[in-house]
Amino acid sequence: MLLLRRADKAGALAAGHFSLKRHHYVYFLSFQRVFGELLVELQKWFDEQKAELTTTVGVEHLKVRTYCLDESTGLFQSLEDVLREKDFQPPKLLTREELSAPPVQPPIPNSTVWFVLPAMVSGTTARSCLDFAEALGASTEQVSVVAARVDADVSRFYQGLQRYRDINTRFQFMFHVPLHLTLEGRCPACALRDSFRAALDRIGNSRHHLRELLQSTINQLEAVAAQNAGTLGLESRSGARLSAPLMACNGDIGIGSDAL
Ligand SMILES: [Zn+2]
Repeated sequence: MLLLRRADKAGALAAGHFSLKRHHYVYFLSFQRVFGELLVELQKWFDEQKAELTTTVGVEHLKVRTYCLDESTGLFQSLEDVLREKDFQPPKLLTREELSAPPVQPPIPNSTVWFVLPAMVSGTTARSCLDFAEALGASTEQVSVVAARVDADVSRFYQGLQRYRDINTRFQFMFHVPLHLTLEGRCPACALRDSFRAALDRIGNSRHHLRELLQSTINQLEAVAAQNAGTLGLESRSGARLSAPLMACNGDIGIGSDAL
């Protein structure tokens, strides 16, 4: 609720309709704006996450390698500010593509890897983090996700996961903001658009003002392709771009309500 209240205050919520992987969603959330609004809370949470790591048995704080997905959310900068003290290595910026490919650097046995992510929408990101940490030879891994957008079962599964192969794991979520989604073909926004289209067909070529009004409503109800997870709170491997006329918010729009 705090996240949504702040999002509202920051003007980060916008009505819209977009599609990703055969699902449709009906509102957007700009992570960049809401993270800016939540800066103090975010940095306090990073501090707590850091403290939890450093007090974990076997963790040498100078050996902790921190990776952050930013995806135009401003998250990296916030984290960098928290890790300025010399007790931690500076964080490294990671793209989603890099996260999903095995790293090339040589493994450091018994090291610790810390991932900081703006959002997690499905188990895919979580699995990528686990595989990435394993490739690095880590024995301890912490994944700190600001906005968990997964459904309750997935969330419980990862929060309960303490060990993956030879790695001690810990998943932490700052907020749970599940995404509301519908399957393509069962989307209420599409249904509404179709009924306006039918009305437009019925009125024929007369009543120009009404035709214009209907047409502009239909245009606004068209689903647009979503962009990336950080901005949308979603995962997209399709590289689909947000091209929509709806996007009054510079493209740094994330989603609003519930789960892939
Ligand atoms: Zn739809």
